[in-house]
Amino acid sequence: MRRSDTVLLALASLVAVTMLSYMLVERRQLDDLHRTMASRAELYAATIGGALAKYEFLPLAIAQSDEVAALLETRSPDKVERVNAYLEEMNQRAGAFAVYVINPQGEVYASSNWKEPTSYVGQNYGFRPYFRQAATGGTGRFYGIGVSTREAGHFIALPIRRHGRIIGVAAAKVSLDWLEQSWRMPSVAEQIWVTDANGVILLSSISDFKFKTLAPLSESARKSILEQRQFLHETLPPLPYRIEERLAGGAMLLSLKLPSEGGSSGYMAVSSRLNPLEWQITVLAELGQVRAAARNAAIAAALGWTVLWLGILYALQRRRRIAERLNAQQALKRANDELEVKVEQRTAALRDANQRLQAEVSERERAEQTLRHAQAELVQSGKLAAIGQMAAGITHELNQPLAAIQTFSDNAQVLITRGRADEALENLSVISDLVKRLGYITSQLKGFARRSDDAKKPISVRKAFEQTMLQVRTNRGAGRLVLNEDWPEQDIVVLCNETGLQQVFSNLITNSMDAMGPADIAHISIRVTRSGNQAEIRVADNGPGISPACAQRIFEPFFTTKEHGLGLGLSISAGIIRAAGGSIQVRNHDSDGHSGAEFIIRLRCQPQDGNIDRGEQDA
Ligand code: ADP
Repeated sequence: MRRSDTVLLALASLVAVTMLSYMLVERRQLDDLHRTMASRAELYAATIGGALAKYEFLPLAIAQSDEVAALLETRSPDKVERVNAYLEEMNQRAGAFAVYVINPQGEVYASSNWKEPTSYVGQNYGFRPYFRQAATGGTGRFYGIGVSTREAGHFIALPIRRHGRIIGVAAAKVSLDWLEQSWRMPSVAEQIWVTDANGVILLSSISDFKFKTLAPLSESARKSILEQRQFLHETLPPLPYRIEERLAGGAMLLSLKLPSEGGSSGYMAVSSRLNPLEWQITVLAELGQVRAAARNAAIAAALGWTVLWLGILYALQRRRRIAERLNAQQALKRANDELEVKVEQRTAALRDANQRLQAEVSERERAEQTLRHAQAELVQSGKLAAIGQMAAGITHELNQPLAAIQTFSDNAQVLITRGRADEALENLSVISDLVKRLGYITSQLKGFARRSDDAKKPISVRKAFEQTMLQVRTNRGAGRLVLNEDWPEQDIVVLCNETGLQQVFSNLITNSMDAMGPADIAHISIRVTRSGNQAEIRVADNGPGISPACAQRIFEPFFTTKEHGLGLGLSISAGIIRAAGGSIQVRNHDSDGHSGAEFIIRLRCQPQDGNIDRGEQDA
């Protein structure tokens, strides 16, 4: 069932239950009230009947009075007086309104109220039905408003017979005011009215209702009322009320407006007949309490029903929520299961990928190892090749002068034995040069074995250069060397290996000279400057300079363009400078009217105050 349907059903059933309980309770209350009112009506009827019956004896007693009969036979003043007195006394004792005697023509001969201004004596009541009934031998009973007194009352009349002949009528008028008064006591909860056969209200607990009709009078009834002058000048208007419902057992529900109240109220009217007068005693009970009880019951039922429905709705809601939760849990479980399956699939895929990766890694590792082996082998073979190359170079370099020395010394021996001492001396001098050459070659190799602990000693640049030049100038061809020196005023002391720096200078100058043609003058310039803690040494020549391709490689070991070169000079030089924490670069220059190669060496300086005396350096 949909939620809106449930709400609709709840509302419909609420309305139904409320209405049903209202109706049921109202019905039951009405039944109760009906029973109570019926017995009340009976009681009132009995009271009224009893009250009237009490006076039935009055006309009977009068009819039997001989004095009354005598008066009717002959109407003498003394008889009138006596009967008046008799009636007055009787009336006093009985407590009726009036008792009186009427002749067969309707004229009153004597009356208990003979003294009063409204005395009946002399009046003619021949038009009154009670008189007519009694005059024709019956019992006259009649309720009406007194023609003389203008007071309402109940008339009872009997014929007065003598010798089988009706000689007159004995009548009594009873006032029922006291009854009405008793109904108007505050202790009486209900309203009462008494209607005659025509539906005219004769007596009522509500004085306004008196002489009003419950139903419009028929023409004949109206005519007879007029003739009998029953209600004198009363117009007998209809009582404004409405019959809402006729209940079983003769009761009715009326809507009636009391003169004391603003609007109409509901009443239950229960009647009881009073025979033989054909009166109807009606007791009216207000329905306010009945309706209030029904309303309360309906409210209680509505509340109860609402609570019940709320409970049902709550239970349904709860059941739905539980079902939803269960569904959600199941959906979650399904999603979880799917997720787990996915996770498992992914994990398997990952595992595969991982395995593949590991396989690849070990493959790579294997490849790398193979490569490393290959590389190691290559390095090994490279080293061997280098050593071989170097050995070949050194052998070549050494063999030539050694062979020359061999030749020159052999020649010298021959020349000495032949006494040609001068020529022998020349040969010895050549041998000496060759030995120097050998010394140079071996000195080149020394660089490889140099210890690094004296790589950074304070040395004077100028001193190292001059030392180098002393040695260089002894070389062959040194004559075509023109030096151009540019020294700062203050000696520059750098941190470097002394022999190392001398070897660097020696290499640079030798290379410059080698780069020149054998007949060319070698202009070599040296310029030393200092900036802060750094010294810059520029050595330039006027040679052919260095091609870009060579420039990249000239510091590599064994790089040489010379026929008998070792290719170690610049490599060793760079090693020395680097070991001292400095740098060496090469470029082509174009200055001082020359162009050629220029080497720039940068070295760290000894702090200014720590200058070393040249003399001390020598030592
Ligand atoms: P080697 O002198 O045994 O060749 P180096 O390492 O001293 O070895 O020199 C390497 C090469 O650098 C030389 O062969 C030469 O080609 C080149 N080179 C060095 N100095 C100069 C220079 N001043 N002018 C031109 N080329 C030079």
